[in-house]
Amino acid sequence: MGRRSAKLYGAVTATALLAYQLIPESAWWKAAWQVVIGYGAVAAVLLGASWLAPGQRAPWFWFAAGLFGNASGIAVAIYSSEVLHVDESPTPADPLFLTLYPACALGLALLLKRREPRRNWAAMVDAGTFAVGLGVLAWVYVIAPAAHSDGATLLARAVSIAYPVGDLLLLAMLTRLLRSGGTRGAAFWWIAASCAAFFIGDTTWVVLNNLGIDINDLRVINRGVDMIFLVAYSLFGVAALHPSARDLDRAGAGAAPRLSRPMLVSLAAATLIAPVLFGLQMVTHTLVDGLAIVLASAVLFLLVVTRMAQLVREVERQAAKVQTLSRQDELTGLPNRRAWNDDIPRALKQAQASGTPVVVAMIDLDHFKKFNDTFGHPAGDRLLVEASSVWRDSLRSVDTLARFGGEEFIALLPGVTDEEAVAILQRTLGVTPLGQTFSAGFAAWDGTETAGELIARADAALYRAKQTGRGRVVAAGTATEPRTDDALVG
Ligand code: GH3
Ligand code: MG
Ligand code: MG
Repeated sequence: MGRRSAKLYGAVTATALLAYQLIPESAWWKAAWQVVIGYGAVAAVLLGASWLAPGQRAPWFWFAAGLFGNASGIAVAIYSSEVLHVDESPTPADPLFLTLYPACALGLALLLKRREPRRNWAAMVDAGTFAVGLGVLAWVYVIAPAAHSDGATLLARAVSIAYPVGDLLLLAMLTRLLRSGGTRGAAFWWIAASCAAFFIGDTTWVVLNNLGIDINDLRVINRGVDMIFLVAYSLFGVAALHPSARDLDRAGAGAAPRLSRPMLVSLAAATLIAPVLFGLQMVTHTLVDGLAIVLASAVLFLLVVTRMAQLVREVERQAAKVQTLSRQDELTGLPNRRAWNDDIPRALKQAQASGTPVVVAMIDLDHFKKFNDTFGHPAGDRLLVEASSVWRDSLRSVDTLARFGGEEFIALLPGVTDEEAVAILQRTLGVTPLGQTFSAGFAAWDGTETAGELIARADAALYRAKQTGRGRVVAAGTATEPRTDDALVG
């Protein structure tokens, strides 16, 4: 239903938009055409909303309300100018035109709330940067002149200021949308394009006005600018009817999109508007908005610093995460060989300083290859996980157990005699699950050898444990006087 309706609506509307270029040069004709396209978009949005789950409809009702208000403004405007001959600002149409901004902003805010369960502070700072950066431009060329325009009533001034403010709001929400996490189907882009079109239409209108071009004088310009708004209406309709509208409020895989180069360049440009304006006014000796520009610059500085702080925090958080992950064995969750190698010199130094003995034990599952061959590799993985967990519990809390590689583990037992080490390792051997056994060789640090030499002695003892029948714990000889009698226990 959705895709075909969207196509049909798109085709009909595209035809109506093209026909708009051909209709007679009459205010009534044009207004009627615009209102029909506007109300058509409202109907499309409401129809699309009716296909959504009830909980998903609220944003679309707000979009429909904004479009309805705006299109109705066209009808009221033509009636008040052609029939009532009310021409001075504000006209009764203005409040209707203006409903578009808060209604669309509210709709977008509701969408964003569902798209992003966690508040996206980075996107909010980016939105603020655009709004403030372009806000200075709006202030200098639209808001301040409107505020100071002689002869206009207070209400008229307020209304002419409300338009650029509405546009800045729309721009901020558009930025929030583009920087949001969440799914990005066709409806997402139609809506973004629609908001952009409204913004571009308003801006074009303001720029032409500022250049002293009366858009009513030039048919091409006048219909061209109208077209931008009509396209904006229609895009909302297409978005609502497209099947992807259903996924528009779905949270994405998590991470917000990366900061693209165009976005970065646009952000940089937005922050540079204030100083450029300041320079321009200084050079031309027309510095009238100094305070406003300086205030905006200060806000922009703070926004940039906030963004920087956010990024630094993020980098620190990720560095800590990488650090943790790089030291942890993925399968068993034990410290891995890297963590062991990092920590063992410190442990030996501590033992030396406190004068306590320290024992290193190498532990290797017996006939693990056979276990794998018999029960399968996944069962072997489960045995590694289970065994490492019960071994960890069987050791004392001061002991360290690390996965040295494969089915080989290494333990650091501080403050134990050889006899105590044997007792601890025997107890640990006894809890090995599924009737499996390990062989262990251990060596007590002699206080001078390197960690590598100590481990080599424990490894040699492990070798002897394997050779002499497995399922046992063997103490190493001293470095200078290798033990050949194999203190077998087990
Ligand atoms: P021994 O008693 O002499 O130690 O015999 P073994 O079979 O335990 O020793 P061997 O070195 O011949 O084989 C070790 C096996 O451990 C081979 C390898 O497939 C298996 N292995 C190593 N890492 C993993 C792992 O992460 N998961 C599983 N399932 N198997 C592993
Ligand atoms: Mg083995
Ligand atoms: Mg092995």
